[in-house]
Amino acid sequence: TYVVTDACIRCKYMDCVEVCPVDCFYEGENMLVINPNECIDCGVCEPECPAEAILPDTESGLEKWLEVNATFSAQWPNL
Ligand code: SF4
Repeated sequence: TYVVTDACIRCKYMDCVEVCPVDCFYEGENMLVINPNECIDCGVCEPECPAEAILPDTESGLEKWLEVNATFSAQWPNL
């Protein structure tokens, strides 16, 4: 899965949302998150993010952000 990280906070360009083929972005007050159960790992959103906030969870050190994405995508509205 891909995960949204802290560089997204207060960015919200939303270009990522437009390209996601499975609509797995969810919106909170200050940032977006990806539902890891719905993301199909296509990677098209990553280059669309001007803040470089979207990363594959295969990168090291993203455990905390994966948990944030999983937790809040279950609570926030779908985009
Ligand atoms: Fe959507 Fe693909 Fe990005 Fe996953 S990697 S959030 S499926 S655009």
